[in-house]
This record gives sequence, C-alpha cells and structure tokens, in this order.
Amino acid sequence: MTSPQYFKPRSVDEASALLADHPGAVIIGGGAYLRLSSRKVAVAVDLFDVGLDFIRVADGGLELGAMATFRMLETDPAVRGYADGLLSRSVERIVGVQMRNITTVGGTLFGRYGFSNLITALLAVDAEVELHKAGRMPLPEFLAAKPDHADILTKVVLPNAGWRAAWQDLTRTVNDYAVLNVAVAVRDGEARVVVGARPGRGMRSGAAEAELAGGGADAARKAGDAAAAELEFGDDVRGSAEYRRELCRTLVTRAAQEVLA
Ligand SMILES: Cc1cc2nc3c(=O)[nH]c(=O)nc-3n(C[C@H](O)[C@H](O)[C@H](O)COP(=O)(O)OP(=O)(O)OC[C@H]3O[C@@H](n4cnc5c(N)ncnc54)[C@H](O)[C@@H]3O)c2cc1C
Repeated sequence: MTSPQYFKPRSVDEASALLADHPGAVIIGGGAYLRLSSRKVAVAVDLFDVGLDFIRVADGGLELGAMATFRMLETDPAVRGYADGLLSRSVERIVGVQMRNITTVGGTLFGRYGFSNLITALLAVDAEVELHKAGRMPLPEFLAAKPDHADILTKVVLPNAGWRAAWQDLTRTVNDYAVLNVAVAVRDGEARVVVGARPGRGMRSGAAEAELAGGGADAARKAGDAAAAELEFGDDVRGSAEYRRELCRTLVTRAAQEVLA
C-alpha cells in the first residue's frame, strides 16, 4: 500500500472529522492486511493514537477496543478468563507474535474475512459492535451490512458472562489459515454453534444448537451431524466442500464434548 497523505489523529472525533473532510480516505487499524495489498491510497487515517487499544471488564461482560491487538486478547487475564478462554484460543496460534502484536479487533471485523478465527469466536458469545456514527448493533447485523468506510468501529461489546465454551480448528501447516474453525458455547440452557472458514464466514447452525440445548445422550455427536447437514461448505485450495463437511462433523462434536464435560 502507498499513501501520499497520512494522518495520525489523537481522538476518534478527530479521526471522524478527517474521514468527513477526505471522502475515500482509508482507515488503518493494524495495517497488516492493508500492507499486503498493492492498493494506492490517497489519504490514510491511522487509528494508532485514538485511545481504542483497551480491554475492559464491564457489567459482567467485556469490552474490546477496536485497536486491541490479537496479542492483547491472547494475554489479557480478563479475556483469558472469559468463556473458558475462547477468544484467546481463537487467535493464539495465528502466524507469530510479531503479527499478533499489530493485528487488531477492528481491522478484523471490518475486513469481514471468511477465514477469520476471531469472527467465529465472537459470534458464539453474542458479540455486539459499536460504530462511531451508526451506534451499537449485533455482530451478525454489522457483518451482513455493506461496509461504510467513513465510519469507525470503536469497540466490541460482549454483554454476557457465564459462557462455557470450546474452540477447535484445523490448519494444514502451523501458520496457515484454518481449513475450518469452530466455536461452541453454552449458557443458561442456550447453545451457540458457529462454523467458519467454510470457506465462507462464520455462521451459526440452529439445528446443532437445538441438539446441544436439548441435552440428552449423544448430544455432542448429534450436534456435529446436524451442523454438517445444515451448513454450506465450498471448495478452495485448502480443502473440498465434502472434506470440510466431514471436518465440521468431527470438530463440532469435539467442541461440544468439551463444553458438556
Ligand atoms: C499474513 C497474514 C496471515 C493471516 N493469517 C490469519 C489466520 O490464519 N487466521 C485469521 O483469523 N486471521 C489471519 N490474518 C488476518 C489478521 O488476523 C487480521 O484480521 C487482519 O490483518 C486485519 O487486521 P488489521 O488490524 O491488520 O486491519 P487493517 O489491515 O488495518 O484493516 C483492514 C480493513 O479494516 C479497516 N479498518 C481497520 N480498523 C478499522 C476500524 N476501527 N474501523 C473501521 N474500519 C477499520 C481498514 O480500512 C481496512 O479496510 C492474517 C493476516 C495476515 C496479514
């Protein structure tokens, strides 16, 4: 990426004003993905100094600032203690520490990447996102909407504590993108089963969630079968749709066994 004009605002309001004054300006989060592209950017607005690099315990849940890095999610005690460490587990093996020191929560959600581990994990704990202009909304609503590149994602809110949760993924080599990723969470008789890198983005399986919430003998295996039957899978260089379907059966069953144990 090249950019002739580069701004480093000191607050979200200042960043927002810069975006309003420069239509087409590009926000820089960690910059890791932007850096890989050959994109020519006329104006860049870097969020490094706007004060969004926080993790807070709030009302029993958590708030993750948009500039919180994967390394922060991996090491912060509050995040490690939340939902059996689901968020930490989802990011702790992505590439290496240097990369995880720069990749951010906001850049990941705004990028809406199908392979994203963090999106899969956040969908399993009913995450909500807050945007500077558009306000707060459930994560699925944000992901489904067309991105507004003039708005700033300020934080992710995890409103509920008390989840029991488990993470599973499979990569072909240590640093590769996942062939499939899975997050399962249960709380107060409700269940969430999310499967991502299908290769499409993380998606809940209502049928698998019903099997898990119903409990009973063999609920974990039935949840695996239900997710494999319900969700759509596709082919790419990492695996075929049929391979992913079988993997889904196995990984959902393993994660469900862990949360039910
Ligand atoms: C080599 C490499 C390997 C990777 N491997 C994996 C992997 O195996 N698994 C995985 O899950 N992820 C992986 N990732 C993705 C990575 O984890 C991040 O999701 C990605 O780098 C985006 O985060 P960022 O902070 O770098 O975003 P940036 O590159 O800064 O931004 C991404 C997009 O979001 C916008 N943006 C950034 N912050 C905000 C904000 N606060 N508000 C509004 N818009 C914003 C930017 O304008 C841009 O369009 C990999 C990335 C790289 C570069």
